[in-house]
Amino acid sequence: MGQLIYLKDVVTLKLSQEKCIGCGMCLLVCPRAVLSLTNGKVEIANRDACMECGACSEIACRSS
Ligand code: SF4
Repeated sequence: MGQLIYLKDVVTLKLSQEKCIGCGMCLLVCPRAVLSLTNGKVEIANRDACMECGACSEIACRSS
């Protein structure tokens, strides 16, 4: 079965790359493989796969 996409272009996920320290913890907690790590910075690789669970933002809050 392919990866579920709920609706295209409706996800409100935002990424502040200037705050990224490249630890990769948000990639570990994301259940949908939305994020990727390139040259030490996280990028949104598959925005439409995000289910807005908030797990990655919880990690970000604890890492700063
Ligand atoms: S909100 Fe959830 S599904 Fe979306 S990128 Fe963050 S951890 Fe992944």
